Amino acid sequence: MKPALLSLLSLFFLSACQVPSSISKSTATMPLGSELKVALPPLIVGLEAPTWEDVQPVEENAPSWSKPVNDTYTRVSTGRKVVAITFDDGPHPENTPRLLDMLKERRIKATFYVVGNMVKYSPQLIRRMIAEGHEIGNHTVTHGNLARMSDDALRKELQAAHDQIIAETGVTPRTMRPPGGAIKKSQKELMLREFGYPTILWSVDPEDWKRPGPAVVTSRLVNGASPGGILLVHDLHKPTVDAMPSTLDQLLAQGYEFVTVTELIELDEQVSD
Ligand SMILES: [Zn+2]
Repeated sequence: MKPALLSLLSLFFLSACQVPSSISKSTATMPLGSELKVALPPLIVGLEAPTWEDVQPVEENAPSWSKPVNDTYTRVSTGRKVVAITFDDGPHPENTPRLLDMLKERRIKATFYVVGNMVKYSPQLIRRMIAEGHEIGNHTVTHGNLARMSDDALRKELQAAHDQIIAETGVTPRTMRPPGGAIKKSQKELMLREFGYPTILWSVDPEDWKRPGPAVVTSRLVNGASPGGILLVHDLHKPTVDAMPSTLDQLLAQGYEFVTVTELIELDEQVSD
């Protein structure tokens, strides 16, 4: 990919993909049923981006959960010292391969919430993620604000990204993350009912997209981690990937085991009502 395109992608995500800190901080503790409202411009401004219209529906046999699942998770309750680390908004043509090398070296499994229009630029990278044991989650095609969409628009966003992930990897995504955490309770219920997707938010947000520096990202993640937690970061940003060796090594040294989001949900000891 040309450097100009890379910098354009980075510029876009710096300006568009991010959520004001006041919103992202409140998300983890917001009560179910409340709605976040964030402004997220369309993906990849200025580029001729592929869209979901050219994705063909696919046949699939979707795996099911072994137990009833909640419509939302910010973390799970477990006595095991596990965390799920999640990387959003990729795959990025340079940062993501570097991250995958770091994860492989440490035998760590992660979950990637990929954006359909990013996958179109680097489809080989989600195939590599699957080949190396990681999990792919649905982060929509255009990275728009789902809370402002009609149910039909929401379905199109999710279905197209869902089909695209299966078409590229042969693996069915099991969970989704709404861009910016913006989602309504009724939409969460729709996604669980129609797609089998729990909505995955997070327990730790280091606000890495504000580029506070790798050392700060590391300390926020390490200090914020707790058993059953979900860590949110973005493989779109180079300083975030730069923060990973130290972050991962410190958490491993503390005895944390890294699991994927679906594994984390299966470990949830909370009884659903
Ligand atoms: Zn995102």
